[in-house]
Amino acid sequence: MKAAIWHGKKDVRVEEAALPVISAGKVMIQTAWAGICGSDLHAYHHGMGIPVEHVHPLTGQKAPMTMGHEFSGIVTEVGEGVTGIQPGDRVAIEPLVYCGECEYCKKGHYNQCLSVGFIGLHANGGFAEYVVVEPKMVHKLPENVTLEEGALVEPAAVALHAVRESKLQVGDKVAVFGAGPIGLLTVLAAKAAGASEIVVVDVSQERLEKAKVIGASHIVNAAEVDTVSTILALTDGIDVAYEAAGAQPTFTNALSVTKKGGQVMVIAAFAKPVEIDLFQMMVKETSVAATLAYRHIYPEVIRLIASKQMDVAQVITKKIDLANIVEEGFELLLTDKTQAKILVNTNG
Ligand SMILES: [Zn+2]
Ligand SMILES: [Zn+2]
Repeated sequence: MKAAIWHGKKDVRVEEAALPVISAGKVMIQTAWAGICGSDLHAYHHGMGIPVEHVHPLTGQKAPMTMGHEFSGIVTEVGEGVTGIQPGDRVAIEPLVYCGECEYCKKGHYNQCLSVGFIGLHANGGFAEYVVVEPKMVHKLPENVTLEEGALVEPAAVALHAVRESKLQVGDKVAVFGAGPIGLLTVLAAKAAGASEIVVVDVSQERLEKAKVIGASHIVNAAEVDTVSTILALTDGIDVAYEAAGAQPTFTNALSVTKKGGQVMVIAAFAKPVEIDLFQMMVKETSVAATLAYRHIYPEVIRLIASKQMDVAQVITKKIDLANIVEEGFELLLTDKTQAKILVNTNG
């Protein structure tokens, strides 16, 4: 089968790989669509995330590694002892790997597992024609959810988890910093959660126009206007600011536009530490919180997609074939800031 395999920084090759072998208690998936994520770009451009020296403690795998953690597909085979999943099921994959035994897993917070990992970073992933996964990772899609939408369940789960973990109340005013795929999906999640006004901040006018189409009440181009005074003039202050950009200026601005008692919820992965004005936080009694991935939320995300309350297909800006993932995916996303989610056809 064809697979996009990470060998090192700037070295991803689409090559022939052995079909994965199914064993008892496992599920074989023929993949359909897989999204390219910011963390895939970190792995490609900076070599971040994929174990090179030591194998992952739970998966026993290290580079070379097949990438891809946001994917959908069709079940082709189930191993002995697997119940409730049949060949032919259309599914979205929840890619988290966790031990089930540590303190955090025991209380159900498996995204905080001491050995947490992801299929596509710590085990062979979805940028391949076939992948073998555990039954707990398999979530069936109802008939009115497409396989393309199925590939968006994972990033939508990131956004919905952040919104559900935030202080957002129905009727609140929110700001979303960063109109990339996660920012756009956060707009959809905040809208579904009852935000009354949603301000979206970015430096790309194209991305901002997209945000407007999917439900932003106001768009602010940080390259053209003063972000903080513009947002304060529009809203009199923000209840919850979602940081989906991951840089010092966006974080500082997110804190500055927040009302007293408000919150900054960090969703972006920051590559560097940031400075934080704790005195301002104190005076405003603001809180800063952060989330990693999600837990126990795929069924809710799939229902919100099925009921059209989260129309996730709107964030897709391009579809490419697996063979072209490097040039038309990883390389393009670095230069073309008009792109949001690029989906890869993994069985074209
Ligand atoms: Zn992702
Ligand atoms: Zn654990």
